[in-house]
Amino acid sequence: MIKKFLKRVFRKSAKAKSVGNAQVIPFKLHGVAREQISYGALKVTDGLQASGYQAYVVGGAVRDLLLNRIPKDFDIATDATPEEVRRVFRRARIIGRRFRLVHVMFGEEVVEVSTFRRMIEAEDAQTDEHGRLLRDNEFGDQEQDAARRDFTANALFYDPATQEIYDYHGGYADTRDHLLRIIGDPLVRYREDPVRMLRAVRLSAKLGIKLDAATAAPIAEMKGLLDNVPQARLLDEVLKMLLSGHSLECIQQLRKMNLHHGLLPLLDVIWEQPMGEKFIMLALRNTDERLSQDKTVSPAFLFAALLWHEVLAAWNLRVQQGERPVGAMHEAMDEVLARQREQLAIPHRQDAVMKEIWLMQQRFEQRAGQRPFRLLEQPRFRAGFDFLLLRCASGEVDDELGLWWDEFQDASAARQAEMLQPEGDGEKKRRRRKPRKKPEVPAVDESAVDEPVA
Ligand code: ATP
Ligand code: MG
Repeated sequence: MIKKFLKRVFRKSAKAKSVGNAQVIPFKLHGVAREQISYGALKVTDGLQASGYQAYVVGGAVRDLLLNRIPKDFDIATDATPEEVRRVFRRARIIGRRFRLVHVMFGEEVVEVSTFRRMIEAEDAQTDEHGRLLRDNEFGDQEQDAARRDFTANALFYDPATQEIYDYHGGYADTRDHLLRIIGDPLVRYREDPVRMLRAVRLSAKLGIKLDAATAAPIAEMKGLLDNVPQARLLDEVLKMLLSGHSLECIQQLRKMNLHHGLLPLLDVIWEQPMGEKFIMLALRNTDERLSQDKTVSPAFLFAALLWHEVLAAWNLRVQQGERPVGAMHEAMDEVLARQREQLAIPHRQDAVMKEIWLMQQRFEQRAGQRPFRLLEQPRFRAGFDFLLLRCASGEVDDELGLWWDEFQDASAARQAEMLQPEGDGEKKRRRRKPRKKPEVPAVDESAVDEPVA
């Protein structure tokens, strides 16, 4: 009790001091201890400092520690060039072409080290016709490095040796106030890099902090600039959102700000479909929960969920027009993926997994003969089954189907035999005789489904 009281008085008496243009915030004020920094990051800052360089923990890690969160990783900023960094550490390699960074390895931990950079002056800057920066990798000093960063909370430098934080843009106060504020003029900063608009949404959702009003205001009118951003970067950012552990808030926020157009364009449509919204919300909540329990989530599973009701709609349309179910499913999948690709290209290797998950959904309906056993042997059975459970939870299919599979997969051989459903209308026999020419059975043509989907 007394200790706590003394600590509080002590903290109050501690003050930040100015060094050049930086506010230097002492440990007594911010309370982030050296012990909270990862083993590898300490090795890197200590090693570089011992060789006469400056070195700080920077960016997301400092921000997260101030917000009492566990950082995902610890990035280091230094005045040493990549070559100089590499010379200090035994296991280090330079990566990246545009931004040359160094990865220093300590067992499992990889610490990313970047040399201070500066923003290139307006007249020298290479931008596209919309003002987007094409190059910003000139080396600079610490102050310049702070100015090129996106948000004040992301521009704090922590020195583990002195346990001080260097703050050039009021990021310490903003973080304490739970405010995400862009550095500089928001119009200029979004023009330089429109992805910052998405980062604003993601970081505020993930950290549960508010977007400063001036930071949020221009987004509505500037969102069109996202159209000029290379696909790969957009996809990266969307994945970060989906895998942030706060995907639900991120997507809701994106929608609220009308930023989802051109990213996941099909979301518009999906939300208008009767069960689409519920399904997606469940899928996102489920993902967030898995991440909070340190379970893995696959991007393909998520994309499969996001696009599922589009696939269903396209499939239904074709079946109503008299196409056969399995063929219709293949075409529906290709159509939806092609449409999505025009906006935001999901990598081909994800396509294959998405298709497997989608195709399995038809096979879950088949509960007679050998078919359920074959389905169980599918390498992605688990993903397909999890997907089925989401469909049950959203009301798209009867819970009974999910419960059946839940029991069947772990049941004894005797119980499994008992559970199997009778072959319907002699369909199996007909299929066996003429499997390819007359696939009259709704849902499954196993010869098509069993092939690996390329
Ligand atoms: P996360 O916890 O999601 O990793 P982060 O802030 O660490 O969040 P990173 O993408 O790892 O995000 O970026 C590291 C740092 O690089 C940021 O904290 C920020 O200072 C800077 N940064 C990243 N992207 C941009 C950008 N588009 N414009 C300016 N600075 C950026
Ligand atoms: Mg980071």
